[in-house]
Amino acid sequence: MKALSLGCIADDFTGATDLANNLVRAGMRVVQVIGVPEGPLAVEVDAVVVALKSRTIPAQEAVEQSLAALRWLQAQGAQQVYFKYCSTFDSTPAGNIGPVTEALMDALDTAFTIATPAFPDNGRTVFKGHLFVGELLLSDSGMKDHPLTPMTDANLVRVMQAQTRRKVGLIDHRTVAQGDAAIRERIAVLRAEDVGVAIVDAVTNDDLLRLGPALAGMPLVTAGSGVAIGLPANFGLAPSAGASALPPAGGLRAVLSGSCSVATNAQVKHFIDGGGPAFAIDPLQLMAGDDVVAQALAWAAPLLAQSPVLVYSTAEPSAVKAVQAKLGVDEAGAMVERTLAAIARGLVAQHGVRQLLVAGGETSGACVQALGIAQLQIGAQIDPGVPWCHALAEAAPLHIALKSGNFGSADFFTKAFKALP
Ligand code: ADP
Repeated sequence: MKALSLGCIADDFTGATDLANNLVRAGMRVVQVIGVPEGPLAVEVDAVVVALKSRTIPAQEAVEQSLAALRWLQAQGAQQVYFKYCSTFDSTPAGNIGPVTEALMDALDTAFTIATPAFPDNGRTVFKGHLFVGELLLSDSGMKDHPLTPMTDANLVRVMQAQTRRKVGLIDHRTVAQGDAAIRERIAVLRAEDVGVAIVDAVTNDDLLRLGPALAGMPLVTAGSGVAIGLPANFGLAPSAGASALPPAGGLRAVLSGSCSVATNAQVKHFIDGGGPAFAIDPLQLMAGDDVVAQALAWAAPLLAQSPVLVYSTAEPSAVKAVQAKLGVDEAGAMVERTLAAIARGLVAQHGVRQLLVAGGETSGACVQALGIAQLQIGAQIDPGVPWCHALAEAAPLHIALKSGNFGSADFFTKAFKALP
């Protein structure tokens, strides 16, 4: 089997999909695996993204998991390693971006890497080492109040330096604008100055495309998902329909929605207004002990043959707050996630659903786990950040799309099925 071009380690699940989506769009065939697989990969692809959940766990555990992922990727022959983190550089002085980067550098025996969360087309720019979220400095954005990783400094050289023993430097926008030869020269200067990690400016996506060739042959790249747009060309790959080709879809169709975001509320309303069959889950009924899973499956069974069905707990903020006041935020969330995940399993294992849309990041995680999905082949993008995937699940192989809350147009729940060949 052909060796892997790129081996990727992502510190969370939806971030992994985001990275995989960019690689596919730039011409790579990509599989995303959930956690570190036990055995070798059974399919031939250009890149694998190992999805960890290591963003906010203790740094030592994040290092151990990332090194386990690295060993597996090396066993698959990965020629270059990509450590993917959040586009808002979510971390604390204790990590985990710095410690994981350092551990990977040590394991790969390399003295230099880059770090940049830039993705200008998605509103993440880095200028003179400072990260902007849309129009705002990172430290003025909502990230300053994040419950787990509050980002109160936008100067990434300083942020990274607080997390690593290696010297941190900068490749600034003037150098990046001059192209890959200038970037290589700057890297040589930084290395001579004993810099181990360089933050890289990017104010347009073209900057990322100029950066790409300068990274050819670098054993380790660390970045958000943006840098990925410039890497497949280094392996002789160009955008192609073949990269996103999935096995043909069949079977019955369903949507499960546990996201309460503005976009998802609009998508649920659009589906129902268009006459789509929909079953609402009321968390208070769950609390009362009703067997909502059985009710939803019995409701769906006769309808599935005619059209896609929607099962949703999606609600407006006032309704969510009322439920949370009665049940507690965590308990309400966990109860709804468990219910939707059990319905997902029932729909696939007992009712022949083979095309499944899931709305909500946490909801997606719960469904992927309940379905026993170990591996996702990444297909074509439906809307930015949301590709169709082909999943090897315990019950049966199926096509699945995992939509994080605020992604997708209002007609997403109907157009997604039309986009699947
Ligand atoms: P998003 O991607 O929009 O953040 P998530 O699935 O990550 O969506 O998070 C939504 C959370 O809200 C989940 O924990 C889900 O179980 C919970 N939830 C869903 N519906 C309700 C509801 N009606 N009342 C309270 N909590 C809910």
